[in-house]
Amino acid sequence: MSLKTKDPQIYDLIQRERKREMETLDLIASENFASKEVMEALGSILGNKYAENYPGKRYYGGCEIVDQVEELARDRVREAFKLPLDWHVNVQPYSGSPANLEVYNALLEPGDTIMALDLLSGGHLTHGSPVNFTGKTYKFVHYGLSPKTGKLDYMEILKLADKVNPKLILCGYTAYSREIDFKKFREIADKVRAVAMADISHIAGLIAADAHPSPIPFFDVVTSTTHKTLRGPRAAIIMCKDKFATAIDKSVFPGMQGGPHINAIAAIAVTMKEAKTAGFRKYAEQVVKNCKAMAHTLQDFGFKIVSGGTDNHLMIVDLTNKNITGLDARKLLESAGIVTSQSGIPQDPRKPWDPSGVRLGSAAVTSRGMKEKEMQKIASWIAAVITDPSIAAKVKQEVKRFCKNFPAPGL
Ligand SMILES: *Cc1c(COP(=O)(O)O)cnc(C)c1O
Repeated sequence: MSLKTKDPQIYDLIQRERKREMETLDLIASENFASKEVMEALGSILGNKYAENYPGKRYYGGCEIVDQVEELARDRVREAFKLPLDWHVNVQPYSGSPANLEVYNALLEPGDTIMALDLLSGGHLTHGSPVNFTGKTYKFVHYGLSPKTGKLDYMEILKLADKVNPKLILCGYTAYSREIDFKKFREIADKVRAVAMADISHIAGLIAADAHPSPIPFFDVVTSTTHKTLRGPRAAIIMCKDKFATAIDKSVFPGMQGGPHINAIAAIAVTMKEAKTAGFRKYAEQVVKNCKAMAHTLQDFGFKIVSGGTDNHLMIVDLTNKNITGLDARKLLESAGIVTSQSGIPQDPRKPWDPSGVRLGSAAVTSRGMKEKEMQKIASWIAAVITDPSIAAKVKQEVKRFCKNFPAPGL
């Protein structure tokens, strides 16, 4: 029997969500469209299988096939991220947040000092936000962005590191639009003998396609989700130098997780194969070009972009000169079929729930085949709606028609 006949309620909700995804513009920087093939692996019978522990050492029988799935996924991660021979891969983390906890748990004791970017400047909840388990368990000292440039200030980060002597320095953001100088972070970490950890959840797809430099030549541990610019399943990976492999593996299982989601691991393998194609490289390059095009058009309309622009797939629009808050702008744009997320700006005087900016990303719309011309169109709609909220309903109809020409992969 089909889902449609057996569970019409859930079937109907999925159809309505499909329609929403088709008829609106997804500018949420952390979202994307996974391919049909990724979803086929994710929705497969592999989800039936329990396989606690790692290939060759499982606590359950019947794992000879899923062992091969996990090994293939690990090999393909190695290839996609060009890992040196003395690096190790763990593909079991359920998602980005557990992956980060698993690294801290492997390498630190509760109360140890970690340096990271604060949430409102573009860090993640798991980078020591006071409302998060990480902020309650470890001593986080947050660096900010330069108030003048809106960018990372490596001299300030070094000064702070010298003062607080962190055991681990974390670099990697949910809302930072500029290229990261990983070598500088390595130098800072070396000066204070800290472990250098990168969380590339957002930019992993760009890194795999060489559209952003990689931390791997310089860092000790790298975590990433697989569902953002990488366009895979909701899951995560940890890559680390061999000397941390045992501690990391133990921390993932049995430290923090039980049975791995083999279906998600198979979908990671499919994602990594896709990431090595010429088509993926083109997509990643276009993501960056599209983001720049959108930023330039918005600037032409008088919008302030934090740090003055973007080098990657996202930008933060500072709305303080537009007489609207981040939350209100998000709601208004949504009523025009343009889906975004509210975002803090550096030194934001407002609170995280209703901050001073919105975050815009170009990955999902690029996956639909949109190019610079379309980005300019989207930016003009954003400018028009923020200037005159009364046209939102009309724009929503235009967006719906526009979206018909750009079918989303997997839908
Ligand atoms: C998205 C993100 C995460 C968390 O991922 P989830 O899968 O939502 O738990 C962690 N770190 C960064 C930098 C992220 O952007």
